[in-house]
Amino acid sequence: MKCARCGGSGFYTRQYSGETLCKSCFTQSIVEKARRTISRYRMIRPGEKVAVAVSGGKDSLSLLKVLTELYAGRRNPLVAISIDEGVAGYRDEAIEHAGRLTRELGVQHVTLSYKELFGFSLDEALDWKEERDVSSCSFCGVFRRRAIDEAASRVQASLVATAHNLDDYVQTFMLNLMHGDVARLGWLDPAYADDSFPVRRVKPFMEIYEAEVALFAYQTGVPFQSVSCPYMHEGLRSEVRDYLNLLESNHPGIKNVMFRSSLDVVSHYARAPEKGTVPCSRCGKPSSAGLCSVCRMKVAVEEHTRLL
Ligand SMILES: [Zn+2]
Ligand SMILES: [Zn+2]
Repeated sequence: MKCARCGGSGFYTRQYSGETLCKSCFTQSIVEKARRTISRYRMIRPGEKVAVAVSGGKDSLSLLKVLTELYAGRRNPLVAISIDEGVAGYRDEAIEHAGRLTRELGVQHVTLSYKELFGFSLDEALDWKEERDVSSCSFCGVFRRRAIDEAASRVQASLVATAHNLDDYVQTFMLNLMHGDVARLGWLDPAYADDSFPVRRVKPFMEIYEAEVALFAYQTGVPFQSVSCPYMHEGLRSEVRDYLNLLESNHPGIKNVMFRSSLDVVSHYARAPEKGTVPCSRCGKPSSAGLCSVCRMKVAVEEHTRLL
């Protein structure tokens, strides 16, 4: 098979479109897709400083490569931010990968730790969590969101770009339905912004399949992390991922259709009026219940450690 764009030797065929591409046209197509997504949803405005959330995994390192290619030498300065949750033996490797790539690309790199921000590492905090009915990932997610906001405002960025891809998007949409979190669907709107997210979030990879991001990473020499997070027990999400992949292999393109449908539903909830917010009595950030979700969990962790 020949590359549909340049006639070179084909290396990858998009099952959902039938298009065959050579290696270089494929990597270029990923950069182009991200560029189109950014402009379609007006994600990044001229002159804005962009913080790229770099976990050190292949997706976020790929995003950093793509954004560097799109914005190098332009008026939008980029800075990579990494959050060190404090998971011994896991995050260290990822932050090393992130450090190496940012040096290679000449991008400023800032790391902020849970310990420094909240007073405890994730390893320390999860001791408390074991007794509660809250998953490690949702617990960690609450703190990570706050840490990313904090890192972005320290480097004076007006927005944060994250590496969520099309698969992540559709999975999150379905998980919200399964958890009954319909009100949160609005958060998935590309244009969603409210006071609880002081820094705008954008997802330049949200229209790209996970498998294509992985192929891009492989083709462009982005390192793959060898260790996975020891706390990851995302039971339901893994089942949804497997199910979506099964559907896609039987019906190529179905993930694209589900993504479009999700966007339609989500835009309705993004327009729905927000519940009133009051400042958190501890940190002053907006909250719906007097204490924000970060401070609620912090209080519980602190009480538990005092009892020890
Ligand atoms: Zn080609
Ligand atoms: Zn608070």
